[in-house]
Amino acid sequence: MAPTPLDVLHRVFGYSEFRGEQAAIIDRLVAGGDAVVLMPTGGGKSLTYQIPSMLREGTGVVISPLIALMHDQVEALRAVGVPAAYLNSTQSPEERREVEQAFVDGRLDLLYVAPEGLSTPRMQELLRRGRIALFAIDEAHCVSQWGHDFRPDYLWLSNLAELWPEVPRIALTATATEATHREITERLAMHDAAHFVASFDRPNIQYRIVPKDDVRHQLVDFIRTQQAESIDAAGVPVPAAGIVYALSRATVEKTAEYLRAQGINALPYHAGLEASVRHETQTRFLREDGVVIVATIAFGMGIDKPDVRFVAHIDLPKSVEGYYQETGRAGRDGQPAVAWLAYGLADVVQQRQLIDKSPGDRAYRQRMGQHLDAMLALCETVECRRVNLLSYFGQASQPCGNCDTCLAPPAVFDGTVPAQKLLSTVVRLKRERGQQYGAGHLIDVLVGKRTPRVEQLGHDALATWGIGQDLSAAQWRGVVRQLLATGLLAVSDDGYGTLQITDASAAVLRGERSVQLRQDVVDASAARLARRANGDRGASVAELPEEARPLFEALREWRAQTAREQSVPAYIVFGDATLRAVASARPTRLEELEGITGIGAKKLDQYGEALLEVVAQSARDAA
Ligand code: ADP
Ligand code: ZN
Repeated sequence: MAPTPLDVLHRVFGYSEFRGEQAAIIDRLVAGGDAVVLMPTGGGKSLTYQIPSMLREGTGVVISPLIALMHDQVEALRAVGVPAAYLNSTQSPEERREVEQAFVDGRLDLLYVAPEGLSTPRMQELLRRGRIALFAIDEAHCVSQWGHDFRPDYLWLSNLAELWPEVPRIALTATATEATHREITERLAMHDAAHFVASFDRPNIQYRIVPKDDVRHQLVDFIRTQQAESIDAAGVPVPAAGIVYALSRATVEKTAEYLRAQGINALPYHAGLEASVRHETQTRFLREDGVVIVATIAFGMGIDKPDVRFVAHIDLPKSVEGYYQETGRAGRDGQPAVAWLAYGLADVVQQRQLIDKSPGDRAYRQRMGQHLDAMLALCETVECRRVNLLSYFGQASQPCGNCDTCLAPPAVFDGTVPAQKLLSTVVRLKRERGQQYGAGHLIDVLVGKRTPRVEQLGHDALATWGIGQDLSAAQWRGVVRQLLATGLLAVSDDGYGTLQITDASAAVLRGERSVQLRQDVVDASAARLARRANGDRGASVAELPEEARPLFEALREWRAQTAREQSVPAYIVFGDATLRAVASARPTRLEELEGITGIGAKKLDQYGEALLEVVAQSARDAA
């Protein structure tokens, strides 16, 4: 009898059950139908075309725009015993010929190709000579002309339907918006496809957004708490892999240098570095344990590393879409991960100025402004971050219990009086024509700080001088930031960041409208938050019991050595989830390994004995 998809999932991949709609998508393809799949990063898209490719006659042809990803996917497939190969421009003619022959002979279950290769006559002739099980179009949003990842070569893919009408096609993306979904369906001519839209929730990612204070110190503290959560047998923190995003190349360089000086294994990455340096950095991130990459948004697409434990943003992202895509690179293995963002007043001012100065037309600037507003609303919300995020993608949800606002609900206070004090000071400063004042001077006047500038301009004589002494300068910055975020203050386009009132603020000044402000979570409660978060996590994700830790560390060491010997990334040998399961179960016989997640037939055969030996050795060490 022919094997079922579930048989393949058990035997080859060593997983016990399908996730979400995986089974339905696979059934659709096996039966010869088309599918359009929207699933978040880490949702498990790969299996939905890999398993049908193995079950249908012929080879599954996977179109993937990212050479690095192709290579890793093929390596991961071979590691579980699936015959797979790729064709791309990095190969020698001999290598290519070998792969081509294997395809024609029907020896491959999967063949990965780059989109630009596909439209060439040579490739089409090759494809005619072999038998095709299906076409899988990965990163299908690249066909969308208005998206940020548009690839002209993707447009050609609309021809597949005509050239191979009998071959089923599946288009996959992690981009969730309605507009992209429509464009994929139309441009790829997938009118008869079944549509599968998964939940975009990533429950294992904890979202935290903190007010920016001294961001480099905050970042180091954050990274240290991440690393301290995993302590090895000798009490030494195990470094966690992470990505730190910043807007400019200069910030990237400086931050990476600072982190290194603090003893954190950090490397910079941005488009201004040599291709060879970038490649080397990427490889180290994939293969070494605990590397932290400080990068511009140039980094990430196509980095398929499942065990990234945190993603930190030290500058405000430009849109919720971008933020969600970047944070989605954390915790693809389903284990606990953290998305951390520090944002402050200067970010809001800077982004508003960037939009004002941008060369696009008015409609473009308006769209950018809407993106920024949505991002600010997420930052300032007093409700669950996840509910806010998912509703942005049109999905309703309940408070999650795993974000900062759920774990430590921020206090809200009536900020009408502070807002009035601040707005009327803005009005008074504004009357002095020809002068520009940023937020700093405004706050000096409010708290009554006698700076040279204040004295020179005689601002200590203003009626509002010193009326804000009930709040600290830091608290005032929080008030300015929140008024900016909610449109009660605006940044003028004079290039100095001068603040001005808006139509909406008039009602506040007249006392017709009240203002609710969020009490910024101060540092002490941030530490409490981190502790509580750890306690809470146990409920949703299997934590390792204390006594299993030495064995887990021994297994990690064995994995690192094995990966080095075979020069593959560690996760290709086994994922963390598998090592955790082994450390908890302490198996002594091969049969006991069979039920463990991530251990299929090939890996059982290849590594089973070695795993048992590590378990036995660890028991002897403990005795
Ligand atoms: P995506 O391409 O959607 O970002 P992947 O296909 O890379 O996600 O899958 C993410 C991780 O989840 C991989 O490590 C994969 O092996 C694992 N995975 C996928 N499906 C399952 C499943 N049914 N059970 C357990 N693990 C799974
Ligand atoms: Zn929440």
